[in-house]
Amino acid sequence: MNTQVQSRPTAEVEQTYFDVIVIGAGISGINAAYHLQKSCPDKSFTLLETQESFGGTWHTHKYPGIRSDSDLYTFGYKWKPWSGPPIATADEILKYLNECLDEQDIRRHIRYQHKVTQADWDSDRNLWTLSVEKSDGSTEIYTCNFLWMCQGYYRHSAGYIPDYPGKERFKGPLIHPQTWPEDLDYEGKEVVVIGSGATAATLIPAMAGKTKHITMLQRSPTYFAARPNSDELIDTLREFDIPDEWIHEIARQKVLKEQELTTRRSFEEPEKLREDLMTAARKYLGDEIPLDPHFTPSYRPWRQRLAFVPDGDMFIAMRKGDASVVTDQIECFDEDGIQLKSGTHLKADIIISATGFNMSALGDIEITVDGNAYQFSESWAHRGIMFSGLPNLAWVFGYLRTSWTMRSELVSEFVCRLLNHMEEKGARKVIPELRAEDKDMPELPFVDSENFNAGYLMRHMHIMPKQGDRQPWVFSQDYYREKDEIPVADLEDGTLIYK
Ligand SMILES: Cc1cc2nc3c(=O)[nH]c(=O)nc-3n(C[C@H](O)[C@H](O)[C@H](O)COP(=O)(O)OP(=O)(O)OC[C@H]3O[C@@H](n4cnc5c(N)ncnc54)[C@H](O)[C@@H]3O)c2cc1C
Repeated sequence: MNTQVQSRPTAEVEQTYFDVIVIGAGISGINAAYHLQKSCPDKSFTLLETQESFGGTWHTHKYPGIRSDSDLYTFGYKWKPWSGPPIATADEILKYLNECLDEQDIRRHIRYQHKVTQADWDSDRNLWTLSVEKSDGSTEIYTCNFLWMCQGYYRHSAGYIPDYPGKERFKGPLIHPQTWPEDLDYEGKEVVVIGSGATAATLIPAMAGKTKHITMLQRSPTYFAARPNSDELIDTLREFDIPDEWIHEIARQKVLKEQELTTRRSFEEPEKLREDLMTAARKYLGDEIPLDPHFTPSYRPWRQRLAFVPDGDMFIAMRKGDASVVTDQIECFDEDGIQLKSGTHLKADIIISATGFNMSALGDIEITVDGNAYQFSESWAHRGIMFSGLPNLAWVFGYLRTSWTMRSELVSEFVCRLLNHMEEKGARKVIPELRAEDKDMPELPFVDSENFNAGYLMRHMHIMPKQGDRQPWVFSQDYYREKDEIPVADLEDGTLIYK
């Protein structure tokens, strides 16, 4: 349902026009800029970024040990070889992105501390008008023909902290890793980390040894993939005089093949895969710490992203006794820590809530189409890239299992192909619309919980668009399917209406 909203005055403010405006200068925004320059060289564009620097996620997060969970061969770009070990720290990722900005001459296109707060589409002018808040509090108006959303999928300003009973009683700091206090002194302190996802698996080895003790408190166990942070084949190839580009491509194909196999095994032989993951954990953990109940999840492996434990570092910290794991439920916080449902009390000087983030649809930007507020959650996702009833707009929502960047690559190529197709047709507007035969489609959630059920996604499905049961209204989250589908997707299948 659309609601009429008042149009905002724009007359007295100077307007800046670009053919394409990219929102966000993280991994996806930089990729969009690369592809625009390469495939749409005549289009003018700019990247508007809220923060004071590039990198998105890798700029926002500053907690100890912050690192990728994916290998950088696939999390990095196809067009810029990665020559380090598979898993990288945030600093290494930022260094890589910084080189990309220089090598591809992208830096001059980014406008920092430009937060887009409102976007209004006008069909008479085929134009988006954006309200952009600057750091000095002033507002600027930007206009463009096409809006490319590379704002990620969560709110950067603050992470998600559940409403723990009694949390106001705790006398120490309660911290979310997304807003890590620079001056936090945890040396010699008792620390409890709530959660057992990738963030907890990063924090624990990074802080263990410096803290008096660090405990991972989990409600239920997670799968961890413990492996060396190296790849024998790639290391061998580096000993020869082979161009970095070739090695990068071989590494990408190898990782993708291995992940395809893991995904297949998670459906076809989940028990065997589970056993393999347990065996790998046991190798680093030793025999002292029981796998059951701490490392024996009840769900099928791969229904959530596998938290990678490079070189088994978290398990080694536990084996040494610097860290430990508790599987229990929180009764309440008190002055000195956490009272658990089992009756145990966990003493804490500092509590870290590694409990994920707040998803945000379209960067919390208010969107109107011809004066009507756009209801994102009522829309249908067109290949998970565009949305019914929303003209000239594409969003990069990456993969949740395969590296995010692999989808950013496919979407970037798709958007550039679409922009060039519009140019050839002389069209200024493209809008996804259901065909007559699509009108009876079942309404399915944006991400299928049978396929992938991470808590942060499930908490927010109601704000996301729907998917249908036929193309192009399906968002499969399956790289191996989309890599063949998206590059040849028919732009004249009757679901994209051009004007
Ligand atoms: C701690 C952490 C680790 C992760 N590790 C991995 C991993 O190893 N592998 C993987 O595949 N995925 C990982 N992810 C998911 C991750 O978000 C993506 O992989 C990727 O970095 C997203 O890139 P992006 O450019 O699409 O979005 P982001 O990195 O979220 O960047 C979006 C940018 O847009 C800006 N922005 C947002 N709204 C506005 C607005 N209204 N106006 C202007 N600018 C705006 C933000 O400030 C930000 O800089 C991780 C996520 C987190 C939180």
